[in-house]
Amino acid sequence: MDKTKRIALVAHDNRKSDLIAWVEWNWEILIKHKLICTGTTGRLVEEALARKKESHDNMRTVHISKLKSGPLGGDQQLGAMISDGDIDILIFFWDPMQPQPHDVDVKALERIAVLYNVVIADTRATADFVISSPFFGTHYTPITNNFSNYINREIN
Ligand code: PGA
Repeated sequence: MDKTKRIALVAHDNRKSDLIAWVEWNWEILIKHKLICTGTTGRLVEEALARKKESHDNMRTVHISKLKSGPLGGDQQLGAMISDGDIDILIFFWDPMQPQPHDVDVKALERIAVLYNVVIADTRATADFVISSPFFGTHYTPITNNFSNYINREIN
């Protein structure tokens, strides 16, 4: 992982205000990194950063990559990026109180993130720990899983 991290930000509707509050609190750190969001989360993050820019003259315009909305395939797009090695950190505020129409995609995203040893924060407390880690702003080499046994397994 480079010094500049590729950070995916995703929040279910009931958790979006929490994620936006977290982004507003940490904007000075976050804008130094690459932000990738599912569609609606991305729009809200963009708006939050635009509000910061209004009150901070020197702040540069931050480009956010917006994927499709989660239920419309955005979670799967993120999963594909993770399996291609294009995401370092996943901040994913999912809703523990409400079933989602795309539950299977949510589960798949969590699974693929674990499989590829991506940094995952599902709660605001974990996100606080992650963003204050010394590794956040430095180069870091995570252990990569070796899938060769699986890939070369014998099929009878
Ligand atoms: P959204 O998707 O940011 O487009 O609302 C989030 C999700 O449900 O995965």
